[in-house]
Amino acid sequence: MTRQERFLALLSLLALVGATVLSVLAVKPPACVPATAPAEAVSGARAMALLQRIAVAPHPVGTPEHDRVQGLLVQELTALGYAPELVAGVYRAQLTNLATPIAGTQSTGTVLCMAHYDSVPTGPGAGDDGSGTVTWIEVLRALKARGWQPRNDVLFLLTDGEEYGMLGAHMFARSDPRAAQVRTVINLEAIGGGGPAYLFELGENNAERVRDYATVVDRPAGSSLAEAVYHLLPNNTDLSVFLKRGVQGFNFALACSSATYHAPHDTPQNLDPGSLQHLADSALALLLRLGDADLTAAPHGDGETTFFDVLGWFLVAYPRAWDLWLAITAFVVAVVLFYRGRRSVAWLFGDLGAHVLRAGVAGGLVVAAWWGLDLVVADRLPEPNWVPGNTTSAALLLVAAVWLTFAISMPGRSCEPSVAERRANAGLVVWGGFAMAAHFWLPGGAFAFSWPVLLLALGAGPGKHAVGGMVLRTGTFVMSLLVAVPILHLLTQLAGRAPLPAAILAGGVSASLAQLVQPQLRCMACGGRWLRVAVWLVGAIALVGSVLVARWLGWRCGSLIP
Ligand SMILES: [Zn+2]
Repeated sequence: MTRQERFLALLSLLALVGATVLSVLAVKPPACVPATAPAEAVSGARAMALLQRIAVAPHPVGTPEHDRVQGLLVQELTALGYAPELVAGVYRAQLTNLATPIAGTQSTGTVLCMAHYDSVPTGPGAGDDGSGTVTWIEVLRALKARGWQPRNDVLFLLTDGEEYGMLGAHMFARSDPRAAQVRTVINLEAIGGGGPAYLFELGENNAERVRDYATVVDRPAGSSLAEAVYHLLPNNTDLSVFLKRGVQGFNFALACSSATYHAPHDTPQNLDPGSLQHLADSALALLLRLGDADLTAAPHGDGETTFFDVLGWFLVAYPRAWDLWLAITAFVVAVVLFYRGRRSVAWLFGDLGAHVLRAGVAGGLVVAAWWGLDLVVADRLPEPNWVPGNTTSAALLLVAAVWLTFAISMPGRSCEPSVAERRANAGLVVWGGFAMAAHFWLPGGAFAFSWPVLLLALGAGPGKHAVGGMVLRTGTFVMSLLVAVPILHLLTQLAGRAPLPAAILAGGVSASLAQLVQPQLRCMACGGRWLRVAVWLVGAIALVGSVLVARWLGWRCGSLIP
């Protein structure tokens, strides 16, 4: 082994470690601001203190606990100096929305700030949607301290009966005269109890809203891919009612620690206070912007934007029309690279088949090991507590999926560089094809395929056997991982909803990614046996850890391991 080989092997390993750690940390919300913070600031700790009084027991519509929560909210808002209105009515049930208006000085339309205060009958609803409810009250408190006088009318609407089909939102939209003035909506939701306030839906013509979000929110989290995937699912939120009426908005959700969703352990102690902080930070920043904006100008006909955050550091956004060109470029570049390696495209179908087979086997083995181990562990537990969606277990599942599929797919030392290249090129063609398909069937989601292809193709350029070329290749390797792996992490974080499909998708995609980065994996293999063992070991430990944290440690004395 030459010094150069060892250096490049180490560099590739470090790149993989770095990309993994950053992807895992990407869902970590900011630190919670303590209750002693100045009154003008929003504090997750203050929001949490109120949440502990609200999310005591399930409070669905029509129960005494629901009435207690409603009374508490009215009392809280009144104490802050507001005049909350109980807007009662019937829409498929007897409902009471809680409306708190702030009159604008020269309104150009109403900004609707929304969350629902009812819970499901099966859980106390700390995340869903106590988190959104207390966030708005904390924002209202800070606004009072600031003496905020917005230009536009602002209406804070805590809706009732969301869990039975967005009933309160329907009732407001149909029977409240103020609904006609609504120009934009900020809705806060949760399908879990952790992670950042993820911007997952904006509706049509999102360009200006994405610009606003990127400008005012310090720690962005969200992507147009999430919206495309969400629209494939049968799920709805209160915002759906307004989108159907042509009013667009911002939809945020907590999506990590999804094991708590609609569950008895959706309690304040299982909710990350940092998530409340991020909800409050994002909601306040946007509201300050929208409250003084000219809402008669633009939003409609302003065009579509594709966007995604990079590790919560910044937001990448560009016109949706670029998606197709980026996808076509990615596909063409991939086919050219393939031709350059094979000197013929006749091999294409064979190589594509081999790609599917390799990825299928590697991904299948990892998922089978995870699922099988889980069955064994569950069998030995007196009380099986299936909590695969807690944040730690989901992060470990991500590490297991990436590192084990990479370990399985790592070529032998005897593997010719040209063979690794060919496998990578076939993978690039597959992902280029996915990018084009995504442009049509996952509008706003093509970036997740185009960018890894374009970046890796850049690294596969001339001079790849010199150290400089390899450093370039490692750099593009890291960047492509930083586009793809955080998306996989979000997927495993949602595993509480559908563990097996999430694991299969995560395993399959990372196994396919392992084919795209064959040259880097070959490079690692050249670093020596210990390196290969290290990759296996990290993956295996993460796999066992994921199962143990989910099954055995995940659930202790009524509280989830975070
Ligand atoms: Zn909800």
